[in-house]
Amino acid sequence: MIDQGLETPLRFCKGVGPARARDLARLGLRTVGDLLFYFPRRHEDRREFCPVGHLRPGEVRTVRGVVHAVEERHPRPGLSLLRVGISDRTGILWGTWFNQPFRKAQFRRGMMVIFSGRVERRFGEWRMDNPEYEIDTGADPLHVGRLVPVYPLKEGIFQRPLRALAREVVERFAPRVPDLLPAPVRERAGLVPAAVAVRDMHFPADETALEAARRRLAFEELFLLQLAIALQRRQVKQREGISHPPDGELHARFLCALPFPLTAAQERVYGEIRADMESPRPMNRLLQGDVGSGKTLVAAMAALKAAGAGYQCAFMVPTEILAEQHYQNLRPLLEPLGVPVGLLTGSQSASERARVMEPMAAGEAGVYVGTHALIGEGVMLPRLSLAITDEQHRFGVRQRAMLLEKGLAADVLVMTATPIPRTLALTLFGDLDLSVIDQMPPGRRPVQTHWLPGTRRREAYAFVRQEVAKGNQAYVVCPLVEESDKLQAEAATRLAADLERGELRGLRVGLVHGRLPAREREEVMARFRSGEVQVLVATTVIEVGVDVPAATVMVVEGAERFGLAQLHQLRGRVGRGNQPSYCLLIGDPGSEEARMRLQAMERTTDGFEIAEEDLRLRGPGEFFGLRQHGLPDFRVANPLRDHALLEEARAAAAALVEGDPGLRSPAHAPLRQALRERFGERLGLVGIG
Ligand code: ADP
Ligand code: MG
Repeated sequence: MIDQGLETPLRFCKGVGPARARDLARLGLRTVGDLLFYFPRRHEDRREFCPVGHLRPGEVRTVRGVVHAVEERHPRPGLSLLRVGISDRTGILWGTWFNQPFRKAQFRRGMMVIFSGRVERRFGEWRMDNPEYEIDTGADPLHVGRLVPVYPLKEGIFQRPLRALAREVVERFAPRVPDLLPAPVRERAGLVPAAVAVRDMHFPADETALEAARRRLAFEELFLLQLAIALQRRQVKQREGISHPPDGELHARFLCALPFPLTAAQERVYGEIRADMESPRPMNRLLQGDVGSGKTLVAAMAALKAAGAGYQCAFMVPTEILAEQHYQNLRPLLEPLGVPVGLLTGSQSASERARVMEPMAAGEAGVYVGTHALIGEGVMLPRLSLAITDEQHRFGVRQRAMLLEKGLAADVLVMTATPIPRTLALTLFGDLDLSVIDQMPPGRRPVQTHWLPGTRRREAYAFVRQEVAKGNQAYVVCPLVEESDKLQAEAATRLAADLERGELRGLRVGLVHGRLPAREREEVMARFRSGEVQVLVATTVIEVGVDVPAATVMVVEGAERFGLAQLHQLRGRVGRGNQPSYCLLIGDPGSEEARMRLQAMERTTDGFEIAEEDLRLRGPGEFFGLRQHGLPDFRVANPLRDHALLEEARAAAAALVEGDPGLRSPAHAPLRQALRERFGERLGLVGIG
């Protein structure tokens, strides 16, 4: 074999001809290194030999015996049946293969053989169809008598030859897998060397060895990511930022004007933000809190701190409706204190836009609320000192960067109502400091949630009428139409019309959807807020942020089509006042997963539990569409399950960067190299080349 280390092509391996090389390539396997890191899907325990006398039909067992008969039969033309009987003193077990006569030559009477597979009882005989087998020569067996690796395969590629090749490659090349982890890191975390880990991922001596291997490789993946994040974070921290002055009279007046005291969590979190804003280092903070926990208020205080000190604050949100609402909510809080609030959205007229953009460009202090229009061409914010983005999961990292470019090293506050589990938050937003509002304003009662099948739809609307009769209000969200905004708008329009004529006859019904001109939409929202509109039929444009405390019922039609996170957000629109509130999910789930989503909604109102469930049902990749945020694909680590390991990796990475900020030590060269290969530009790792 021509040896090129881990780069050696697999076709140089014994028994790999052009055809097999092509098959292997279909699995993405070209070099021995590829195969070393192509880990088994699972291991099958084939260590215990079961005496034939103890077999039971239907069980998967491993049996060892002496070949006692080899028979080939032809029950029909074109059909061959190979039967190999092995005996172990307690009985005889027949291994059978159809149309694989070539196997016959491998068995001879008197040989010691191991069969593994599902046992059946037929015509008074013990039998295994197509067993995994191994001639037991006394040496280390491969396919049986051990924890046997089972690889992910594709059509036309088989377990046995792949396993044999893996063994050859592992024996020969695994010892040469370089160790990226510096010895002190490895020792402190109690990790086995990379070479051992790779070997044991394939052919572990026992479960303990397998777990140690998995732990080692998961740690490495998490460590590399955390290292990249720590480096990036350090870089951000090194930039010179703006030191905002301490809170003064404006802040005191703001608190006085509030009709309620801050919750302890709001105070603590604002304290964290204040400290960041007053420090000369740029703030980079994620503010996380369940729907309705009062994040907006905390953001308003931060905005006041910036604008009150003569700077500009940009407050960027994902939808126009939310921008309009924040604008409406912030004005009465801030304008009495002399802080102007402006609104910039894509659907404003040119003159409206100009009216906002002029003071912005002139560097006038204030809070500027807007959609992505805020980072649009020609928008200038020369005195930007604080950028707040709401509902971050809808904003790309790039947009955040663009916003930052508009001001020098402004403080950044990212708010999210998406209850990202802490482990994932660390993984995804590890470059951000984390503040969590983990407490609801007092007097909130959990929203009662009921799932009704479509046949009970009338009951839902009878309930809506009942609540409206009490002076309360309701939302009705129409089923999700994926194809287009236009179809979605049509569906909502139709639903509103149907309800007005039918179930909700006589009630004042309003309609909002994404296609409505801004002015009309604002008007409907204002009429809903004032109570004039009693029932608001809507698309998911109302998903985030909308805040009307008198609304006590949320009806979701076609609830089976929505994701868990979305349902949770929608439910968050009610339960904001002091009346008991209800969420009625009308849906006929066509899949087990959809049914579990609706049941999870009935079971809990805790956003974090919902998030964990969502993650469990969908896997981290699909979770909240986070893939677009660059959630790396892990081969071994599972950021949810491995949270303890993630914390360990994070601490180790921080310590390493502390000691060697540029990764200049020769001992860290492999790490530097690996970071460049794995993350490269995505994490903007300038300065460690
Ligand atoms: P979030 O943005 O986290 O979803 P909001 O900021 O919209 O939550 O707050 C939800 C509701 O709770 C709003 O009506 C707000 O006025 C109210 N609220 C916020 N903080 C408090 C508090 N400390 N005490 C009572 N009500 C509060
Ligand atoms: Mg909000």
